Amino acid sequence: MTVTAALPMDDLLSRGRAVLLGGAVGDALGAPLEFMTAGEIQVKYGRLDEMVGGGWLRLRPGQVTDDTEMTLCVARGIRAAGEWDLRTIAMEFAGWLKSKPIDVGDTCRRGIRNFMLKGALATPLNEWDAGNGALMRMGPVALLPLGDAPLLQLCSLELAHLTHNNPLSDAACATYGRMVQLAMQGASKNRLRREADSLVAAFPTFRFDPYPGLATGYVVDTLQTVCHYFFRSRSFEECVVTTVNQGGDADTTGAIAGGLAGAYYGLQEIPRRWLKKLDRQVAYELGELAVTLLQLSPRFKKES
Ligand code: MN
Ligand code: MN
Repeated sequence: MTVTAALPMDDLLSRGRAVLLGGAVGDALGAPLEFMTAGEIQVKYGRLDEMVGGGWLRLRPGQVTDDTEMTLCVARGIRAAGEWDLRTIAMEFAGWLKSKPIDVGDTCRRGIRNFMLKGALATPLNEWDAGNGALMRMGPVALLPLGDAPLLQLCSLELAHLTHNNPLSDAACATYGRMVQLAMQGASKNRLRREADSLVAAFPTFRFDPYPGLATGYVVDTLQTVCHYFFRSRSFEECVVTTVNQGGDADTTGAIAGGLAGAYYGLQEIPRRWLKKLDRQVAYELGELAVTLLQLSPRFKKES
């Protein structure tokens, strides 16, 4: 069912939860496939559509990785400050890095260490920072500024620049935030496609039709993969399964696709069997945080 008119707040809250939970589900499903090629996955699993754990990180089935953990940090930081406050989020990242997480991207580690050592809240412009490490934690950024487009843009870029300062990463983060927000508010796939197409118009390297077939940690490859499989999908499950089975940075493409597909298809479309497998504490906290963040949004404040 697609609702296009003004949505009741209940639906918005449910879709907001689906953004964060969908991201976590995609991360947990894709993580065992990280760094495998599509061909290797085919040989080992046929088509992976269950949370099996394992992979190079030797995960428990349903265990999430840095993509979801950093998303949690962002959402916790917003909740702690009660509004958008980059320093509070950076402190959450610092606490997380000190906890010795199972996985941290090099660019993320460098940016967080820069904050810990020098208090830096923005990393300098860098042509090598075009990894997907900023894009993978954008879910909460779509929730908080709901109803305030300039705030969405500001939050996306500030959050990205803590670790990644690169025009391609920036463009990907801002576009993804807008797509997730539109999807949460009932936008059609055609409307979302226009958003993706304007990114391609501004930066032709993001062109995903025809799909180049790369799913590396390079933000361009990542977003091409997500867009390709999202726009072809007819369900949440199909979107996430096809995305992660492309391999490469499968947990991260899975997390990004899962957030967008969650917003678009809704919470009830996320397979129960995946939600049940997901780490209980993580699932509970993400659901709570999604509601808190949306309640802090301009749109919610206006309408309640
Ligand atoms: Mn990861
Ligand atoms: Mn990854």
